[in-house]
Amino acid sequence: MLVIGLTGGIGSGKSTVSAMLAERGAVVVDADAIVRELQQPGTPVFDAMVERFGREIVAPDGTLDRAAVADRVFGDPEALADLNAIVHPAVGAEIARRLEELAPTDAVVVLDVPLLVESKNPYPVAGLLVVDVDPEVAVRRLVEHRGMREADVRARMARQASREERLARADHVIDNSGTLDDLARQVDEAWAWIEGLRSRQSAGR
Ligand code: ADP
Repeated sequence: MLVIGLTGGIGSGKSTVSAMLAERGAVVVDADAIVRELQQPGTPVFDAMVERFGREIVAPDGTLDRAAVADRVFGDPEALADLNAIVHPAVGAEIARRLEELAPTDAVVVLDVPLLVESKNPYPVAGLLVVDVDPEVAVRRLVEHRGMREADVRARMARQASREERLARADHVIDNSGTLDDLARQVDEAWAWIEGLRSRQSAGR
């Protein structure tokens, strides 16, 4: 197993890059997707959240109302800390379980874990891949393609590591200021970089 960390600000193109890496054979471990799985109705995480925040966070169809959760913890540090105390250990355990399963294989594992730069990373990675784009371009793409509200995007950006902080930690940078074709070419280059890491690893260096 070779583990690569993947990070980038909101709207940088991280999901697009992780899908392109999966096409090239990587196994993507996506923390956001794991969170959604762990929050399905009837799971221990779901039950603990409802116990803490009440039925107001449950949508009429019985699933978690994510917007209601976000509203509930917004501007309430104590509620946010409680939410994190419920969700983070479960996500961490699931990521660790998947990595343990993959450890004996020769998989290239891409860890798509937000806050990989912000928090102390508990998962040793062979290299950190950063998707970089001008934050103004990211805002425009999220507003135009994903229909997000500009103020929401900017508020989330303010809570993330800065572009400079991410770049300072990067071992390889993908510049996503161009077209999707440009991006695919850069992902090919990143894949070649990953292959290089892998051959160094198997040579024991
Ligand atoms: P992230 O996962 O980092 O938040 P996404 O991969 O979802 O970002 O990209 C944000 C939006 O921008 C998506 O709608 C995506 O399709 C679009 N996008 C990403 N890269 C490009 C690009 N090079 N050109 C145009 N649109 C892009």
